[in-house]
Amino acid sequence: MKLYEKPAHILHNMLEKKEITAVELAKDLLARIDAVERDIGAYLTITRDEALAAAETVDQKIAAGEKIAFLEGIPGAIKDNICTKGIRTTCASKILEHFVPPYDATVMQKIYKESPVILGKLNMDEFAMGGSTEHSAYHPTHNPWDLARVPGGSSGGSAAAVASGTAIWALGSDTGGSIRQPASFCGVVGLKPTYGRVSRYGLIAYASSLDQIGTITRDVTDCAHILNVIARHDAMDSTSSKADVPDFTQSLRAKVEGLRIGLPKEYFVKGIDAEVERVVRAAIKKYEEMGAEVVDISLPHTDYAISTYYIIAPAEAATNLERYDGVSYGERVDGEDLVQMMTNTRDEKFGEEVKRRILIGNYALSAGYYDAYYLKALKVRTLIQQDYIEAFQKVDVIMAPTAPTPAFRIGEMAEDPLQMYLQDVCTVPLNLAGLPGISIPCGKSEGGLPIGLQIIGKPLDEATLIRTAYTYEQAQGGVNEMAKLGGND
Ligand code: GLN
Repeated sequence: MKLYEKPAHILHNMLEKKEITAVELAKDLLARIDAVERDIGAYLTITRDEALAAAETVDQKIAAGEKIAFLEGIPGAIKDNICTKGIRTTCASKILEHFVPPYDATVMQKIYKESPVILGKLNMDEFAMGGSTEHSAYHPTHNPWDLARVPGGSSGGSAAAVASGTAIWALGSDTGGSIRQPASFCGVVGLKPTYGRVSRYGLIAYASSLDQIGTITRDVTDCAHILNVIARHDAMDSTSSKADVPDFTQSLRAKVEGLRIGLPKEYFVKGIDAEVERVVRAAIKKYEEMGAEVVDISLPHTDYAISTYYIIAPAEAATNLERYDGVSYGERVDGEDLVQMMTNTRDEKFGEEVKRRILIGNYALSAGYYDAYYLKALKVRTLIQQDYIEAFQKVDVIMAPTAPTPAFRIGEMAEDPLQMYLQDVCTVPLNLAGLPGISIPCGKSEGGLPIGLQIIGKPLDEATLIRTAYTYEQAQGGVNEMAKLGGND
């Protein structure tokens, strides 16, 4: 296995034992970027010099005999909607093309305490609106398993980087599936923690009641370690949870005997690709063989999740994006007067999908329509939450596909927004209910594309998700296959 193919926990041990140096490791990843990034397009900004400087500091520390933190010297990268002090943060939008945050997001403060090697900022759908990374204002990202296909989105850069070996780990954000769906499309592990588990301070807002930062990693072990780093109450985020944070590495135990797995009938209906269903059901069967108990459950309001989400998310987005007016925020485009300047700014600098969401959101919030759309959506959101509360009285976790299909072709859905929205059918209910969910690779389609199993947990019970996911991974040999690409493979 090449260095860039290894998970962080293995590389951490190698650094500790002085089998490799942090500089060697950083150079290996940078060489991998040179070799394959042209084909993948996972990055928007590459911080080569800073990465090498950070690696040198780590090596000095190791040479001095100091103990190193888990992420110390391990190359990773960050979705470009998470503020990084001094490093351009564009949200893949032209409106923030030259925005260099004057502060770090809380997650970055926590990550930097570990002294990792940050390789750069990752591509995404503009303002995290999308499921294919085709809505980036800069360039699309390609799926490492098949370059003609999308990596998913909106954290498509994060998933493609980890899957192609141009980052060992990455942070993403998930508002309606944006960590889990790209993880599923790219054959990596993606965790969306419980809403409030990880601070949103410094995450550029899309839909504030749904947004959550999480991890994209090679395996479940790395996921547990990085969640330990980023999960904590934060006074800077009023929605941040005050609940105790366990040591998630304690859940890296292969044991599912007696675990009750709920199988929601509404997640295995028309629209789910037959191959996806077959592979996911086979994975669930494997759990049964390992001693888990599978229970049929019903989440009756699942059918309404997409329409509810596509009212609430755009409504919040329309409000959040008001600040980009060329005065408070956003790259200004001049006009004859103030109104014209603001109109020009928003017209020229926002992409089509962002404008579509702003229009939908403002429509749903406008007087006369508010009750019919926004208020009604909030009520249905409560019903969806209650479905889960009831289901979790009978089961410990719920399993379903992460996405209804494997990765689709670039351009295949670009002209059909509704088709693209329907892709989120299995992921948005969790965001509406605030629940944690993890996607792990559970097999491949006949065409060789990865398929993800989604495991849904009770609020704040990431520990059970990690144990459940880890058990499957161990049963598969403990190593998730990497995409095969050219370059220095
Ligand atoms: N695909 C969904 C959307 O476009 C989810 C995006 C996300 O989770 N950020 O809204």
